Amino acid sequence: MTHTVDVVVIGGGQAGLAAAYHLRRVGGLDFAVLDAQPTPGGAWRHTWDSLRLFSPAAYSSLPGRLMPPQQGETYPDAAHVVDYLTDYEQRYGLPVHRPVRVRAVRPDGRHLRVETDSGTWRARAVVSATGTWSRPFVPAVPGRDTFGGRQLHTVEYEGPGAFAGLRVIVVGGGNSGAQVAADLAYGTELTWVTQRPARFLADDIDGRVLFDHATARRRALDEGRDDTGGVASLGDIVAVPPVREARDAGLLKTQPMFTRLTRTGVEWADGTKADADVIIWCTGFRPALSHLAPLGLRGPRGHIPTRGTEAVGEPRLHLLGYGDWTGPASATLIGVGRPAREAAHAIAALLR
Ligand code: FAD
Repeated sequence: MTHTVDVVVIGGGQAGLAAAYHLRRVGGLDFAVLDAQPTPGGAWRHTWDSLRLFSPAAYSSLPGRLMPPQQGETYPDAAHVVDYLTDYEQRYGLPVHRPVRVRAVRPDGRHLRVETDSGTWRARAVVSATGTWSRPFVPAVPGRDTFGGRQLHTVEYEGPGAFAGLRVIVVGGGNSGAQVAADLAYGTELTWVTQRPARFLADDIDGRVLFDHATARRRALDEGRDDTGGVASLGDIVAVPPVREARDAGLLKTQPMFTRLTRTGVEWADGTKADADVIIWCTGFRPALSHLAPLGLRGPRGHIPTRGTEAVGEPRLHLLGYGDWTGPASATLIGVGRPAREAAHAIAALLR
């Protein structure tokens, strides 16, 4: 069966919903959101129980509706975000179709053809908002196949219960690595490994400040002033309460990155070894873009070159939410609203 609409949004996580909100607001456009998951919430459905947002609720809001505070928590958990996103799409009556997985997007004359596991959609424009959660990244460290213990990525981490008493190596110096390390600091023999020493943001800096910083940087660049530097210049890790507590208890010391895995653990360049039962890779993600491969737009590093959110070479395609390359802070709840608005306005202008 083939459906024809003005715009298809691929992905019904926060970025897809923000796009849908602004497509509705510009008016006069017939659009559909196709989401592979059976229920709302995007990646937030799959994170571990102890994960806490790095900003208070009001600073984690999509356009149009403030996230309500979570009872008893300054920094909400992932379940609270799922509830918020569920309410958001219902409140605005956003046309989300689930579960619908997009397999491929191809040129089709004046349209783009969106092929899914349940039919084809023809659209005059497409917003791709498929996130990164489905593409966990693990670096190619020598010996990875040799290690006899268990290896998992952040996406498979559900909480400390399964690791009690074990020798666990957590790899990664970002927020995921820090939160997972803090989670495991009390009940396991933890080694936390990072490429450079952990850089905690000052305790009074959270996602609000990061967002303000990203906004100021964007304004400076827009106005042709000097680059004020990305949020990375402030540090890597937001000291949310569980991280702060573990750090202050002296439990979050880092080791430099090892050079190879052995059958029983890891080995550093100077020959030092550590045995381990489990290695948890908190080493990030890559954008989920395979459905766009038939368009032949990929540039270096696997990204699709963009101007704002618009794909260079295909003005009917916008990319949203994957990272700073699709708009400053666009991979955050509060940051995705502005690029979503810009994408919706650009699409409206193109189609009229
Ligand atoms: P997703 O939430 O991944 O949604 C994409 C949707 O598209 C999913 O439903 C998926 O099933 C669907 N999809 C994928 N491929 C297809 C396809 N081919 N066809 C159809 N549907 C498809 N941000 C904050 O603002 N505050 C925080 O505190 C914060 N903490 C974070 C902590 C961790 C550990 C991580 C990993 C991220 C955190 N983020 C935080 C970042 C960010 O908010 C998330 O990465 C966010 O989930 C990205 O939203 P998205 O809509 O782009 O992608």
